Amino acid sequence: MHLHIITVLPELLESPFAHSILKRAQQKGLVSIDIYNLREFSSDKHKSVDDYAFGGGAGMVMMAEPIVNCLEHIQSKGQIDEVIYMSPDGELFDQPMANRLSLKKSIVLLCGHYKGVDQRIRDHYVTREISIGDYVLSGGELAAAVVSDAIIRLIPGVLNDETSALTDSFQDNLLAPPVYTRPATFRGHKVPEILLSGNTPEIEKWRFARAVEQTKARRPGLLDRD
Ligand code: SAH
Repeated sequence: MHLHIITVLPELLESPFAHSILKRAQQKGLVSIDIYNLREFSSDKHKSVDDYAFGGGAGMVMMAEPIVNCLEHIQSKGQIDEVIYMSPDGELFDQPMANRLSLKKSIVLLCGHYKGVDQRIRDHYVTREISIGDYVLSGGELAAAVVSDAIIRLIPGVLNDETSALTDSFQDNLLAPPVYTRPATFRGHKVPEILLSGNTPEIEKWRFARAVEQTKARRPGLLDRD
């Protein structure tokens, strides 16, 4: 997969991709991540990327031109499957959407700032708008990092143990069961006996039952999903 992230704050995106699973995914050649500094695509001599809102009101708006210049630059290197604008009024991001996006070959994530981007970008260039939750961030970078992480870890070969993504919360519309590690007794608190039994089928049954219980208690709506 090829991920392209358009931002006015490239520094903000350095760390999320430089460690652990996301770093290894790039080293293994399973994903490549290009970060574009939007200012470099401004034809203005001050390299500005925003301007006052037509009609007045507080807050600057990101101009269409640098964004389109950047998109055309990306397109000149190869086909783009999706141009995704990170936006609080977008479709709520969830695991099924992460699963679908993990199958794409080339995705652009556009990070907004200030009051957001000129509506004409959203109307004519963006193919999908994603929100990571009902709250407003100051920029799209952290949201883009969240979406990228959730997608990349689903690409086959990224996680060492292939089964581990499948047993995470939300896969199969269930929350994950509780997990424990050594010691078996910690300050008097014991690990459930069954997990020490070595009886794999019984342990699987127990885990499934806990997952259902957890889902009913915390997110009953998930059980009705397709
Ligand atoms: N005026 C806009 C908010 C702009 S916040 C509005 O009220 O809808 C600035 C930028 O942060 C947005 O353009 C978007 O890219 C990003 N952003 C803020 N909250 C977000 C969220 N919940 N999910 C995804 N991106 C978000």
